[in-house]
Amino acid sequence: MLTRDARGAAVLGGVRLGDLFDVAAGGEAVRTPAYVYDVDAMVAAARELGRGFGPQSHLIAYAVKANSAGVILRALAEAGCGADVVSGGELGLALACGISPDRILYSGVAKQDPEIDRAIGAGERGILALEIESVEEIARVEARAAALGRIARVSLRIKPGIVADTHAHIATGHDEAKFGIAQADVPAAFAALAAAPHVRLVGVGSHIGSQLMRATEYLAAADVLIELARERETTHAPLELVDFGGGFGIDYGDGSPTPPGEFAEGISARIARAGLGARTAVVEPGRALVGAHGVLCATVVMTKRSGDRRWLFIDAGMNDLLRPALYGARHHIEPLDQVPPAPGAGRPWAVAGPVCESSDDFGEHAFDDPPPARVLIRDAGAYGYTMASEYNGRPLPAEIFLRGGRMVAVTKSRGIAAWIADRSG
Ligand code: PLP
Repeated sequence: MLTRDARGAAVLGGVRLGDLFDVAAGGEAVRTPAYVYDVDAMVAAARELGRGFGPQSHLIAYAVKANSAGVILRALAEAGCGADVVSGGELGLALACGISPDRILYSGVAKQDPEIDRAIGAGERGILALEIESVEEIARVEARAAALGRIARVSLRIKPGIVADTHAHIATGHDEAKFGIAQADVPAAFAALAAAPHVRLVGVGSHIGSQLMRATEYLAAADVLIELARERETTHAPLELVDFGGGFGIDYGDGSPTPPGEFAEGISARIARAGLGARTAVVEPGRALVGAHGVLCATVVMTKRSGDRRWLFIDAGMNDLLRPALYGARHHIEPLDQVPPAPGAGRPWAVAGPVCESSDDFGEHAFDDPPPARVLIRDAGAYGYTMASEYNGRPLPAEIFLRGGRMVAVTKSRGIAAWIADRSG
């Protein structure tokens, strides 16, 4: 959790953030922009979610897309998490970080043959489940499994026809979404499975969207899945899992969402009531495990006054943190080295990055006079670094990992020389 020390300096995971940029790290000072993560807090979030399941058998398949740093993956794996991956790259990474294939699920509407092969071929019996996102995909997976002489374990990702109460770009469970199989097409999917001897259906699932503030729609989708699983089991062998998806929200400063543990309690109660308590309840959280436990630290480059507006230009831009430009997301920005002004106090500053786009804008934030020399952008642990790019010829940001009250790893920016070499070659 982000706190302040007696002098008002920001502290994360027991470490004063300013010190990370003042002291030498591995012989060289770490430069901003840099993400800093409290990995212990991420592990604690996973454990807390796990407790919500009580005695229900479950798997927390961490959505690697939220933050794919190996330090984080390994820590979550040690805490018992599996992985939800969306590409052959993420699959390879999860395996390289020691996550067992039988704790990995793989979603994606357009998996390519080498990616399918890698999933089917991993370990003794392939990954826990390929999430099938269309009727058409079943024949493709059958062909690859037959060619490899393996059985592909799959779960049908259903569109439960439920509109999540979230930003349109991150709602995925409604009928027009590109993800998953519409309920009306489920009979066709079952028929395709019957004609696919190398494909074994082990589960059903859905993911209705991200940054869910309440459990209502999620649990309505859970009811649809549980009913589908029950129906299927009346004529076929019991399924192994029901995958309820991720999407648990975090508080970006505009309200507290329902805690993830309450989603888990709701799932456990429903699955037990339906007599399916012996199945593994899978959830795929990304943001809820890592989002609140990472900050993006930046240095103020200069200020500008234009009419009544005051700009604070920082060395982090939309290439480092895309969410504000992509989703209109708002992240709180605070001084790194001194206490933020009390609510309603301070002078408003428009905080923006150096990227040559109007959308490279982090919104208005209040600071006391004079404005700070360094700032931190809160709640940047999810969909931050994984969406970063070298747009505008800017180097990728650094990453610093904290555990046990100290820095345990640093990924320095690869710098811009590598980009110049790549592009000029
Ligand atoms: N599972 C699937 C299939 C997803 O598409 C996503 C996010 O896009 C997630 C899980 C993770 O979502 P969140 O980070 O909101 O928990």
